[in-house]
Amino acid sequence: MPLLELDQVQVRFPLVGGGWGRPARQVHAVEDVSFNVEAGEAVGLVGESGCGKTTLGRAVLRLVEPTAGRVRFDGEDITALSRSELRKRRRQFQMVFQDPFSSLNPRLTVGQSLSEPLEIHGLAPTAAARNTRINALLEAVGLHPDHAGRYPHEFSGGQRQRIGIARALAVEPRLLVCDEPVSALDVSVQAQVVNLLQDLQRKRGLALLFISHDLAVVEHLCKRVVVLYLGRVVEIGPTPAVCRDPAHPYTQALLSAVPTMDAESGRRRIILRGDVPSPVDPPAGCAFHQRCPLAEARCRVERPALRELKPGHWTACHLAS
Ligand code: SF4
Repeated sequence: MPLLELDQVQVRFPLVGGGWGRPARQVHAVEDVSFNVEAGEAVGLVGESGCGKTTLGRAVLRLVEPTAGRVRFDGEDITALSRSELRKRRRQFQMVFQDPFSSLNPRLTVGQSLSEPLEIHGLAPTAAARNTRINALLEAVGLHPDHAGRYPHEFSGGQRQRIGIARALAVEPRLLVCDEPVSALDVSVQAQVVNLLQDLQRKRGLALLFISHDLAVVEHLCKRVVVLYLGRVVEIGPTPAVCRDPAHPYTQALLSAVPTMDAESGRRRIILRGDVPSPVDPPAGCAFHQRCPLAEARCRVERPALRELKPGHWTACHLAS
């Protein structure tokens, strides 16, 4: 049984306005998304900004409510849980944010921030037990136990992200949803944090849903990749297969922008026309047709379904073969 199952998940937000007999309009942030994450597996979720990645990541943890579909964790439908039932399960799935400041209270020392989830979930009943766990957590993310007495502003961006990861790990989750965890960091620090996540994933058997606009990072870290465009899955498959032989024109364009050391790779930069269309009025037919260099008449009216081209490698394009 997969650890995480997304089954036709949809997230729509009402737009302020409407009235005067006009129908209320909605932002179609996530539409009909289905995929699984196995225990201990790292899955990448990629796409341009505004494609619904962050909303989907939050819907997985019910930080935003799906408007349709199901999210199952270890076989249990968490979309059906009450708030109090959900709080009890939250320990098992945690989020690492792009900006660790958003999850760290600037008035608490690092030790106090790490102590909080331990107390809430009753994981270390005494102060001595909490200190032991806090020291172990800091060491696990490459920091020193002495850092427990300092405040978030005393750390660099990379160190703050390590603290954010330590806080997420404090409750011993089985799944980490990482929302662009390295995109705000210097390039030199990004690799260190990605390697840390990879190390933790392997040593602790953690499942990762790694949200990123950067396919190069996902290629390094994730076994499978899901490509989103305008809230819909356009391609999903094993990372090596998707990166070596992308089936969807959107994935091909994303990959063409990734620098490569391999002169033989033959990657030619594909410049996409225009921006991602508004999710308020998503285009009919294939959502990508206005920017697709291969679009034909059928693409403007008929939405392509996901088709399995090779075992485990799916794409939503009429022309892919
Ligand atoms: Fe392009 Fe048509 Fe394929 Fe959509 S279905 S990606 S518009 S070729």
